[in-house]
Amino acid sequence: MYIRDILEEIELHAPLPLQESFDNAGIYTGDVNLKATGALLCLDVTEAVIDEAIEKECNLIVAHHPLVFKPLKSLTGKTYIERCMIKACKNNIVIYAAHTNLDNASYGVNYHLGKLIGLHNMNILNPHQNSLVKLVTFVPAAFAEVVREVLFQAGAGHIGKYDLCSFNMEGDGTFRANKGCQPFCGEIGKTHYEKEVRIETILPSFIKDAVISALRLVHPYEEPVFDIYPLNNNWTTVGSGIIGEMSASENVKHFLQRIKRIFHSSCVKYSAFTNDIRKVAICGGSGAFLIPKAIALKADAFITGEARYNDFYDVENKILLTVIGHHESEVCTKDIFYQIISKKFPTFALHFSSVDLNPVKYL
Ligand SMILES: [Zn+2]
Repeated sequence: MYIRDILEEIELHAPLPLQESFDNAGIYTGDVNLKATGALLCLDVTEAVIDEAIEKECNLIVAHHPLVFKPLKSLTGKTYIERCMIKACKNNIVIYAAHTNLDNASYGVNYHLGKLIGLHNMNILNPHQNSLVKLVTFVPAAFAEVVREVLFQAGAGHIGKYDLCSFNMEGDGTFRANKGCQPFCGEIGKTHYEKEVRIETILPSFIKDAVISALRLVHPYEEPVFDIYPLNNNWTTVGSGIIGEMSASENVKHFLQRIKRIFHSSCVKYSAFTNDIRKVAICGGSGAFLIPKAIALKADAFITGEARYNDFYDVENKILLTVIGHHESEVCTKDIFYQIISKKFPTFALHFSSVDLNPVKYL
């Protein structure tokens, strides 16, 4: 098995195009065409983590946080980032991160956090917008089935938890093949009427090219007919944060104590709030930008990794702002990587890093 096989599996669950524009998820070093000897899973890549990978004979490090955000202008070892890059290259180690693409994915980081605290009826707190398109194609009736199948195989037709979604309507297509054409049906120079099916389906815009290529392979016409429309629909299964409900209400004190225990937080910061907690929104890491959304959707509590001093004022007793620490809120990403990789490659050597410790210390 090659390193690229493992990364492909991760990206099936967390496609890179789902990452935010500021992000830099993906591959930083190494050759993905090497045979994989083992993978070390971590939240942050440090020099100690790379030493650990060497010691455990892993030539792949899978992290949640990107090693490199800003472009490097030189590579001399003056920062830990550069030293990590140099050490990884010298030792033929691939460093890879799935960051906001894993946050935004269906069943991504925040879904996992919601499961940890026992939420159900979970929905994306801030669904992606302007990322879906509608594909309409017109095919001879006898080819409708095979075209639909190919579109679905290429990733079209998902709505919520449903797949194979399409709308189909029969009608008459007309065309005239002119000189130089090689029409699938009809005669050169004559108007032709063909019983066609108009197939409509939905897909994420980032797979548009792959879906169109697949369509072209099976559509019988010399000039396959299709239209692509941008949609204003939210992509309800993809986006940042999650919101869900606990099976029973909990008073603030019990809720905070439980959250502290679940996330092994040394210090939980919270805002003034007195109502019981039932509906909870979560965004691991730096999720404070979602506080207004959580309030608008009437969550009782919002859990995140870090927030500014003023955020605690700005919530104005409308929600229990609960800040558990950035590292604490995302260290579970190692488990997500483990689940994804081990499900597909059950015998592959996977290790959890034991040295990517919280860089924030508490007195
Ligand atoms: Zn983070």
